[in-house]
Amino acid sequence: MLFAMAWQPDCDVAVIGAGIQGVGVAQAMAAAGYRVQVLEKDHPAAGTSSKSSKLIHGGLRYLETFQWRLVRSSLHEREILLRIAPDLVHMVPFHIPVYRGMRRGPWTIRAGLSLYALLGNLRPEARFSKLSKDAWAGLDGLKTEGLRAVYRYFDGQTDDAMLCRAVLASACELGAEVALGAEVISAEADSHGWTLRYRKNQEVLELHARTVVNAGGPFVAQIADHLSPKPPHRAIDLVGGTHIELPGKLEAGIYYTEAPSDGRAVFTIPWKGHTMVGTTEHPARSPENPVPTEQEIEYLLGVYRHHFPAGSTELVDAWAGLRVLPRADGSLFRRSREVTLVGNHPRRPSLVSIYGGKLTGYRSTAAKVEETIVPSLGPAPRRADTATLRLPKLPLA
Ligand SMILES: Cc1cc2nc3c(=O)[nH]c(=O)nc-3n(C[C@H](O)[C@H](O)[C@H](O)COP(=O)(O)OP(=O)(O)OC[C@H]3O[C@@H](n4cnc5c(N)ncnc54)[C@H](O)[C@@H]3O)c2cc1C
Repeated sequence: MLFAMAWQPDCDVAVIGAGIQGVGVAQAMAAAGYRVQVLEKDHPAAGTSSKSSKLIHGGLRYLETFQWRLVRSSLHEREILLRIAPDLVHMVPFHIPVYRGMRRGPWTIRAGLSLYALLGNLRPEARFSKLSKDAWAGLDGLKTEGLRAVYRYFDGQTDDAMLCRAVLASACELGAEVALGAEVISAEADSHGWTLRYRKNQEVLELHARTVVNAGGPFVAQIADHLSPKPPHRAIDLVGGTHIELPGKLEAGIYYTEAPSDGRAVFTIPWKGHTMVGTTEHPARSPENPVPTEQEIEYLLGVYRHHFPAGSTELVDAWAGLRVLPRADGSLFRRSREVTLVGNHPRRPSLVSIYGGKLTGYRSTAAKVEETIVPSLGPAPRRADTATLRLPKLPLA
């Protein structure tokens, strides 16, 4: 008599996507003692996680939209990342020039920085100051005509792609497995768990997992469409953000400027011996291959020229990444940047989809995913705590 083979899981958690959120979840779940398999269709940080502004920050500008919780939690994460990734995350001086006629005057900036320092628990690194006029000459050719004041504060900077690779390396040290060039094409749930089908080297392979985390970033909805049964979803908008790279080197740090045409905050950032300027907010229709538009490039060149009239505007490079924002009416700027987790069951989800979130908050997002999915998995022997585990130092790519 023939017996059907018992359903054997290959892993406890299958993570779809090796962007910062996917690798963060892989690390957290492996640290919590579970068997993890990451499936990434391309390579780590191939998507948005190599196209961010590369800031590890609370986000001073989110104070304007009253996102206190996000700012406080991101500043807390910044502190942790400074400890566990000292080679990858550094505090950098940020300069806010205040010109006559700007929307945000000196008192608004002062109030914002005071609140930012407060939400950062008034740590020494949270201090800010107003630069003396004598110091303006040392600000990389910043326009001084109409300049009323320059405020300096400190915040974090990283190499986003390297951070993503370091978190993945840490996950692998904790036992997680990763398949690159492995595109998930479908997944079906039954009473045991999930059967995922993925394409790798023109072959279609299967993976059995007890639970699944959809960390596809801008592809989150597209992946959800190929899951059966179809999980609950969140209505989202994809919003492109472009950065341009220019030849000059910035010596004094990062500049947080106001775009003269629309008052948006735009950063001018030292990046690998060059200058990076960004970003924009441009609605996108598809998650595939976002590219900067001519208008976005012109807009960013205009902001740079306005503040650094003698700087070179010969374009070295330009790239775009996609934000996943909750669908809503009104300004993109005012939309929440908080992460949202959507499970397929209210108490014991075997599938969790990650919508949105920040690079800075990857660890806290992963902790929330862990909390959500553990009821389906049961207890496991914890291997490490990601809040204290030092990230491995990787050779430069
Ligand atoms: C312009 C811009 C600037 C930003 N600046 C900052 C900043 O300075 N600081 C900050 O904290 N945050 C910033 N963010 C936010 C941050 O970059 C993102 O929230 C974060 O990188 C998203 O990571 P993710 O893992 O969700 O997505 P992604 O990095 O896009 O990763 C998703 C991965 O899933 C893979 N994938 C997709 N479909 C499949 C499939 N079917 N099978 C297998 N794999 C699949 C993709 O190849 C990709 O690698 C910025 C965002 C943008 C757009």
